[in-house]
Amino acid sequence: MSGPELLGLFPEELAGYLKQLGQPAWRAGQLFGWLHKGRGFDEMGNLPRALREQLKEQAVDHPARVMERFESRLDGTVKLLFAMRDGHCVEGVLMPYRYGLTFCLSTQVGCRMGCAFCASTLEGLARNLTAAEMMHMTLLAGQQIPGMPVHNIVLMGSGEPLDNYDNVVRFLRLVSHGDGLNLGLRHISLSTCGLADRIDRLAEEGLPVTLSVSLHAPNDEIRQRTMPVAKAVSMDRLLQSCRNYIEKTGRRVVFEYALVEGVNDRPEHARELASRLRGMQCHVNLIPLNPVRERQLKGTTRLAAGEFRDLLESLHISATLRREMGADISGACGQLRRRYLLKEGAAYSLEGQETEKGDKA
Ligand code: SAH
Repeated sequence: MSGPELLGLFPEELAGYLKQLGQPAWRAGQLFGWLHKGRGFDEMGNLPRALREQLKEQAVDHPARVMERFESRLDGTVKLLFAMRDGHCVEGVLMPYRYGLTFCLSTQVGCRMGCAFCASTLEGLARNLTAAEMMHMTLLAGQQIPGMPVHNIVLMGSGEPLDNYDNVVRFLRLVSHGDGLNLGLRHISLSTCGLADRIDRLAEEGLPVTLSVSLHAPNDEIRQRTMPVAKAVSMDRLLQSCRNYIEKTGRRVVFEYALVEGVNDRPEHARELASRLRGMQCHVNLIPLNPVRERQLKGTTRLAAGEFRDLLESLHISATLRREMGADISGACGQLRRRYLLKEGAAYSLEGQETEKGDKA
């Protein structure tokens, strides 16, 4: 099984592909429909058997598979480890909320942004995920909990979505396609560490996804301590792109702010943050930093985090303190894949991408 990953193609591109196989263009609609129901070539009952055999030989229907599944006893969160065809693996998390299932999707294998608090970036970037891989993981996620289709997607797994721009935008158009899953773009959040020029480009795509920006600091000096991207993009420049995004899409921007004890969690930080965000159509999502074994940084206590939120609210900045979910199943970004890499280091290095580390789990 090799050749093009058909889940990454639009109906008109499938039509072009089928034409090369001597098939009429109208079969593309059938094929697209089956693929986006998660079906494999063998199950595509209304396609001629000879065509199904040809597709099996020449193309890819399923570029990902669920390798491991962990279910939290605390809150029903399900963490999945997906394997790609080349052996690379990434995480996904399913969070069952009252209103439906939220799927946290990875966009890259690893990450090259280097944020000091994040486990996904410890091994650097291995490669971008393709649109087909992201699409297939979404379909697999929707099969995990009976009666619970994916209702929301957050691009908050491993990777920087705007560093894999073309594949991510293609995925957004595919997952919201009317003949496929038809997921509303307003139910999708794209989280970025702040690649301002790419935010500007995204604002022009006509894709009204919620933009989430990982701010994590009230000023450049503190931001630069944990986020290398802050050395290339100032907060002024970043906030300018956010304002432009709000103006172009009519959507409010969400700022992610992980509270780190003694670094960004003091009352003066809340006041400075409020003054920077004043007048913006935005919301601040606070979360006490989830400690990562390899990093020294500590999360703020729940109590102090609550005070930080109250202070922001009193300064008229809308803010919520996020619930931590799945703490018992390595819920934080990159932790599960990393645990897997350390445990399976020798086997994984056969793929030629990772080498075993000394600090085995
Ligand atoms: N690269 C994108 C999306 C992936 S990370 C981004 O930077 O936004 C999703 C969110 O989790 C980001 O806000 C990221 O900063 C945050 N995050 C990463 N590690 C964390 C940790 N240990 N504790 C709390 N939040 C963390």
